[in-house]
Amino acid sequence: MAAPLPNTQQAMRRRNLSLVLHAVAAHGPLSRAAVAARIGLTRAAVSTLVDELARDGLLVELGPSRPGTVGRPGSALQLNERGPAGLGAEIGVDHLAVCAMDLGRRVRVRAQVESANRDGAPGPVLGRLAELVRRVAAEAEGEGLRPVGLAVAVPGLVARESCVVVRAPNLGWEGVDVGPALREALPGLPLTVDNEANLGALAELWLGGHDPAPRDFVHVSAEIGIGAAVVIDGRLLRGTHGFAGELGHVPVRPEGPECVCGGRGCLEQYAGEEAVLRAGGIPAEQAADGHRAPGSRIALLARRAADGDQKVRRALRGAGAALGIALAGTVNLLDPQKVVLGGALTPLAPWLLPALERELAQRLTDPARPGQDVVTVSRLGSDGPVLGAAGSVVQGVLDDPAALREDGA
Ligand SMILES: [Zn+2]
Repeated sequence: MAAPLPNTQQAMRRRNLSLVLHAVAAHGPLSRAAVAARIGLTRAAVSTLVDELARDGLLVELGPSRPGTVGRPGSALQLNERGPAGLGAEIGVDHLAVCAMDLGRRVRVRAQVESANRDGAPGPVLGRLAELVRRVAAEAEGEGLRPVGLAVAVPGLVARESCVVVRAPNLGWEGVDVGPALREALPGLPLTVDNEANLGALAELWLGGHDPAPRDFVHVSAEIGIGAAVVIDGRLLRGTHGFAGELGHVPVRPEGPECVCGGRGCLEQYAGEEAVLRAGGIPAEQAADGHRAPGSRIALLARRAADGDQKVRRALRGAGAALGIALAGTVNLLDPQKVVLGGALTPLAPWLLPALERELAQRLTDPARPGQDVVTVSRLGSDGPVLGAAGSVVQGVLDDPAALREDGA
């Protein structure tokens, strides 16, 4: 082989490998000539890069589209459906979910189990999760895929560039490093951990079905708590410590009830699941009884609202107004294209939106922008975090395919 390339050339080659892969991911199947035209490299240069990507099992050639022609002029490239795959996992309050996604961001395997994760020791939860990941990975391998990384979504604060869950109040976790247990159980699988709202927002960016996908948006999601993620120019705004997006603790009424965070009158006190159940006249015990499955308490609220239960409807109007007040501040500060209502909030959108949009319309500084122009409801629902987790592994491969070889994967 040729002598090792100097650093700058090495970096350029890595970037070009990624450009080719992204072009095929976004527009494939594409011929080599079409890739060259799209990314502005010569056809010869693209051919070398394509050969390398094909050797590593990332791209496949579909064969000549016009039989009988000399060479392979019409031979189209596409992402390998049996190549590297991303594994995504979600630790919910009442469930665990895992999926395997191919390079084309199609979910190929998924599994979900009910799991009482609240206030339990982290060890057994991580043990159950590792077991589920192993099962999904084995099934993915059975389909010819090669899992190259695992990303885990958690309902809490995760320290930047680490696997440490600093605080997940709804799990009762504080300062839990999920790295050692998962690495031991799943040796050789690169691991990342992120906040569920962040991963839900990334799923919206990659899989939300928007055309074109908004580049600047705020994604609001909820399970027990309320989280938001801010995407600016297609990238997550993480904040200095990785804690950006804690919309649930933005004060809505400064003199309101005390909150777990130490503040008063936070959004979560008005629009969090437990607050809405309480305001809707559904006692906590009744909500828990027979409604432990993921999404079932939200489904209970949606059913009651649809049946015309005035108390539940009033509770949802209150929650929508509180969301509107908190989001008006966010929208005025950041001027995003959209606010996306996602996660467990989506089934409640019909009853949350009118009050939310009314508050927004009253408070937005842009007079040309009515409230209903800003908010949109996610199509991904509560699947966002686990899809975003797997998607983030896939994105890592598309962004730097050469890194796969260095990992020895
Ligand atoms: Zn708070």
